[in-house]
Amino acid sequence: MKVLVINCGSSSIKFQLLEMENEMLLAKGQVERIGMDGSLLKFLGKHEYVIEIKRTIPDHKTGIQLILESIVQENYGVIASLEEIECIGHRVVHGGERFKESVVINDEVLKTISSCITIAPLHNPVNLEGIKICQDLFPGVMQVAVFDTAFHQTIPETAYLYGLPYELYIKYGIRRYGFHGISHQYVADTLAQKIGRALKKMKIITCHLGNGASVAAVKDGRSIDTSMGFTPLEGLIMGTRSGEIDPAIIPFIMEQEDMTGKQVYRYLNNKSGILGLSGLSSDFRDLESAAKIGDQRAQMAIDVFAYQVRKYIGSYVVAMGGLDAIVFTAGLGENSPYMRAKICSGLEVVGAHLDLKKNEVRGADADLSKSDSDVAIWTILTNEELMIARETKKLFAVKQ
Ligand code: AMP
Repeated sequence: MKVLVINCGSSSIKFQLLEMENEMLLAKGQVERIGMDGSLLKFLGKHEYVIEIKRTIPDHKTGIQLILESIVQENYGVIASLEEIECIGHRVVHGGERFKESVVINDEVLKTISSCITIAPLHNPVNLEGIKICQDLFPGVMQVAVFDTAFHQTIPETAYLYGLPYELYIKYGIRRYGFHGISHQYVADTLAQKIGRALKKMKIITCHLGNGASVAAVKDGRSIDTSMGFTPLEGLIMGTRSGEIDPAIIPFIMEQEDMTGKQVYRYLNNKSGILGLSGLSSDFRDLESAAKIGDQRAQMAIDVFAYQVRKYIGSYVVAMGGLDAIVFTAGLGENSPYMRAKICSGLEVVGAHLDLKKNEVRGADADLSKSDSDVAIWTILTNEELMIARETKKLFAVKQ
């Protein structure tokens, strides 16, 4: 069966088309710069190289139509007819407390995703738009929603409640939700398969380190804690996000810098993190290059980041009562031996010994631990779209 996966962001759409009998990738790509100058589709289909289709793409509907047109295009397309697509899986960022698992989309599901817009105003509207466009273009085809928050719905109350009046949780759902769940679940599953152990009997810390970054404690296959919270702003310092700060800093900045609450929120999301600390860039590659030639602020931003990841790992060892494996994934986790080494330096106390030679790998699944390390250290390439396709296939099979 062929599954189309759609992942709509505010100005981008990622997609994959997979043959799920053998999990073979048929095509993948990304629409970029929707509604801006220079919009385009990067498409990997029949050819072995990515082609760039430059078009005016004013909205998500035009973007999805361009993807579909390309999938069946005579020269570089991969299927003869869109009727071959049996099922569509959508990434939805926020499922609140209602969605603990992926679901087949119906009117009630759409309503509930809509009701989560108050707690995910940046993400859920565009996810919903993608679903509605596909419903119009593929009438009668089953559509599935896979939530970024669902994997973390197993986090216990002790870890998800904040020290706020309980009424705020009841009234508005203010609690830790956690994000990147599809990725954390995928790499934990893949690790267990790779090392031939039962996920249900393992204690794993998954580190999704990209432009957005989060750490999760996965015990017996279930997330029991994670660093992102009510929104993706909490937790680690990230590319442009502050991560956790003393909440008293917010009114202080408002007063001192004459900003509104909304302005401070944007400041914490877009101007902070390693960008704000280094004054240079939100990209770790730039910081690593600058630090090498003696830029002190770049080095400081790297050191703060590595320290925070290490601190979370330490606390999650205690939360899980032990540790079997650490997994690094996403742009930085998959590609930066330097950052992995920095994070792991000091983790020997929890039995995690990184092999510096094995650590020199980039962009591949690999065991990075010394042969006598008690804790396995791995890098695993995340594949959120494949995880979404697996969930979609599972629900399709149930419906048949
Ligand atoms: P992602 O959000 O998963 O796409 O990750 C993007 C981030 O990964 C970039 O902003 C970089 O900071 C980081 N990254 C990607 N490749 C490398 C690399 N080779 N070395 C260091 N950092 C990298």
